Amino acid sequence: MGLRTGQDYLKSLNDGRELYIGNELVKDPATHPTLRYTAQSVARCYDLQLARADEVTFVENGERFSNIWLPVRTKADFERVRKGVTLWHRTTAGIFGRLHDYLTIWVTTLYMLHDVLSKPDPKFGKNMIEYYYYARSKDLALTHAISMPQIDRSPGAGRKQNEDLHIVEVNDRGVVIEGCRTVSTYAPFANEFITLPQLPANPDEDPDYVIGFALPMNAKNLVFLCRETYSSPEAPWDHPLSTLYDDLDAQAVFDRVLIPWERIFIYRDPKINFEIYDPIMAYATWQATVRAIVKLEFIIGLAAKWAEMLGIDAYPNVQERIGWLIEWRNVLSAAVEGVELTARPHNGFLIPEVWKTWPLVMVHGTYIYPMAVETLRVLTGSGVIMNPPMSVFKDEKLRKYAHKYFRAKGASAFDRLLVSKFVHDITVGSLGGRLLQYERYFAADPFRVAIVHYRFSDKSQFKQLVDDQAAFIKSLMKEAGISEEG
Ligand SMILES: Cc1cc2nc3c(=O)[nH]c(=O)nc-3n(C[C@H](O)[C@H](O)[C@H](O)COP(=O)(O)OP(=O)(O)OC[C@H]3O[C@@H](n4cnc5c(N)ncnc54)[C@H](O)[C@@H]3O)c2cc1C
Repeated sequence: MGLRTGQDYLKSLNDGRELYIGNELVKDPATHPTLRYTAQSVARCYDLQLARADEVTFVENGERFSNIWLPVRTKADFERVRKGVTLWHRTTAGIFGRLHDYLTIWVTTLYMLHDVLSKPDPKFGKNMIEYYYYARSKDLALTHAISMPQIDRSPGAGRKQNEDLHIVEVNDRGVVIEGCRTVSTYAPFANEFITLPQLPANPDEDPDYVIGFALPMNAKNLVFLCRETYSSPEAPWDHPLSTLYDDLDAQAVFDRVLIPWERIFIYRDPKINFEIYDPIMAYATWQATVRAIVKLEFIIGLAAKWAEMLGIDAYPNVQERIGWLIEWRNVLSAAVEGVELTARPHNGFLIPEVWKTWPLVMVHGTYIYPMAVETLRVLTGSGVIMNPPMSVFKDEKLRKYAHKYFRAKGASAFDRLLVSKFVHDITVGSLGGRLLQYERYFAADPFRVAIVHYRFSDKSQFKQLVDDQAAFIKSLMKEAGISEEG
């Protein structure tokens, strides 16, 4: 099949999965009142991919596949994947943190690493190759969760105390697991769930807690518990981003789930986990930066539009705020291209350098993205709050007031209010709060990532720079007769 239509995708979600919002079992996410708009947004991406197949797909053995499944062998391949990723996120204003291109790239990276997965036993590498071909040929949407639930994070507490996934039985058909994983963003909109052992995996890890696999969302005894939704299906235009692009998060509960042998990629081997972690994170954070650039562009667009509509674009303080965002956008774009140029070869493929890509999402999530949100808040003032429901335009008298008192110098009330609603969703709405948390945490705890950078980087080269300068100054002092001895 290779590529599918939006309609094919929507139909595929009605698979008998066990997914709950509160105590409500969601039978079909594609038709569920609060989920259907987001499902349709994903379907729109599939349709657009088909419509622009010449630009964002590739052909292998006569069959056409999406660029978001392309294994990278050359610099040009990076550009092809980037084009695919950008199309999906431009279609959705960059608001989805976790459209499934994040995970198609994960799976493709695991495929590129099949030689590593084969080390303990060739069957695991083979399983991965076959899974890649299977998922790619169906153009599957995936979700993942690699963190253990937050139960006990005190010093010394590990996977067991946090109810992480673990093996409880091994039989001819496969491995039975129990436990829980969080956060499975996009779960309602995915066809399959994939996971790896949580990172970092220590070499002395209990092997029962080390397993990586993929399963369909409707696997028996696999249960998803979602957070509440932010969508407003009764009036999507009043909360447009929250309704169209709420990639709902879920906790995945494994209540004795059988993983067939052919779906297992990592089995009781912490060393392998450690080896693949580096390339996986490298690619995941490279994709996430490409996605973050689109979101930043949307925010710059909102800020610029608002400033022009209200006539505040004439002020240097306003120009400076937006100017910084444009600078950051350019820095991220340059970084993405630089990362592609310096990727290292592995087994005929190219792998970006994780120490260059990981900081991009950490710096973005901790500093750049909060600054972008703050810019929207600062530039809009009360305008982000004062946007009445669009139904005012249905009433003749109220419409008159709305046209007069909600218009802007450079825009009709209708257009100005729509911009204001986009800004609302990103800044003061529930989705906006969640997006801030998402950007900060989705690729790991930034506090611990900074410590990893401190501990694992070679700081001697930096200290040498200081020593060189000190030596020079000391030589000047010596000439002037100044020495430690006096
Ligand atoms: C909106 C959202 C969506 C997400 N989506 C996904 C997803 O789709 N798939 C997925 O796999 N993951 C996802 N994540 C999860 C993400 O991977 C984790 O949030 C991240 O790894 C941090 O782990 P945690 O949330 O368990 O925080 P914790 O590890 O519990 O940390 C909470 C706080 O405690 C501190 N702390 C905890 N342990 C220690 C320690 N040992 N030493 C020092 N300080 C410590 C941390 O610094 C932090 O301040 C998502 C997260 C969010 C917020």
